[in-house]
Amino acid sequence: MTDKIARAEKNTGKAKKAKPKKNPEKPLTNWRLGVQIAFSALCIWIGIEFHFFVEYLGSGGETGSAYRPPGVEGFLPISSLMSLYYWTQTGVIHFAHPAGLFILIAILAISIVFGKTFCSWLCPVGFISEMLGDFAEKVTGKRLKLPAWLDYPLRSLKYLLLAFFVYSIFFLMTAASLKAFLDSPYNLIADVKMYYFFADITRVSLMVIASLFVLSLLIRNFWCRFLCPYGALLGLLNFISPNRIKRNEQSCIDCGKCAKVCPSFIKVDQVKAVWSDECTTCVKCVDVCPVADTLEFRTVGRKKPIDKRLVAAVVVVGFMAITGLGMISGYWSGGVSTEEYLHHHQYKDAYGHPTGTSEIEELNEEAEAGK
Ligand code: SF4
Ligand code: SF4
Repeated sequence: MTDKIARAEKNTGKAKKAKPKKNPEKPLTNWRLGVQIAFSALCIWIGIEFHFFVEYLGSGGETGSAYRPPGVEGFLPISSLMSLYYWTQTGVIHFAHPAGLFILIAILAISIVFGKTFCSWLCPVGFISEMLGDFAEKVTGKRLKLPAWLDYPLRSLKYLLLAFFVYSIFFLMTAASLKAFLDSPYNLIADVKMYYFFADITRVSLMVIASLFVLSLLIRNFWCRFLCPYGALLGLLNFISPNRIKRNEQSCIDCGKCAKVCPSFIKVDQVKAVWSDECTTCVKCVDVCPVADTLEFRTVGRKKPIDKRLVAAVVVVGFMAITGLGMISGYWSGGVSTEEYLHHHQYKDAYGHPTGTSEIEELNEEAEAGK
């Protein structure tokens, strides 16, 4: 009988919830901001060191610095993905850009544990996008969200790009052509080629970057949400990560603050658990929830919540541990000597890479013939 009354009250909206207990947890926002700033500063430092290395190459060893920061290989995700595939196939860590391989493994590992954390905690592009989005929102007081009929097709673009890379590397390339590419002069100095891509920027590339800048002001995280294939890969890992945000429907007061603050437009206030490729584990929703024990991280199948500070610990310690392993194992600096860099630098403009499926097939044939 009592059950029936309770149900009837609930159906008629008369049920009264107990006074909500205030969320006592301190927000992680400043910690995340600190990690983002530290990581971006590290990237800038690496960029400056690499600039002097390229100056050294350009001057034939006269000026600049002979030190090449291996961390620059974090900006070579395709080469690192190929290196990862090569490692899984042969058990051998390829001598070119091994730091990139360790960085990729670190990013994949932390993403498997807590989802797409790299995007909101470490990625400098994600950080810039977030700053631009925050700035635009502060100025206009609005957050523009595209209608679903446009949002979904645009979001699929990054998966198309990812599918192209995955198909080309894992399905189109043979073991011989994979090795041939990793050994090629283009790959050996891919970091230098990347430097010149940004340093000698063409008018078209500049226009593309400027457009992305403006679009990121208009639509939050434009690059990350619609175009970044790296983010697409990490987003897929959200579905295999055992830890996710869960909402306690009993204690939730339906204030909608979590959904309002979510930079990925996820309707956190309407779901039991966040299952989305767009969630970047930024923890903003958990931070803003005003009710205790309502929005929490939980491991699938376990009732006990996970302290949200563990997210920060896994991201920072996990990343440092895996890249540190690369350093102490002696692989970090790679096997391309400064003399080889100096030699290949002279011919850098002649080096290219396959740009389509037919060129990959050509590479396959050449690699098979040269076996
Ligand atoms: S659901 Fe929460 S953690 Fe995920 S992106 Fe939105 S605000 Fe961040
Ligand atoms: S922030 Fe979200 S989960 Fe927390 S009480 Fe409000 S609607 Fe419920």
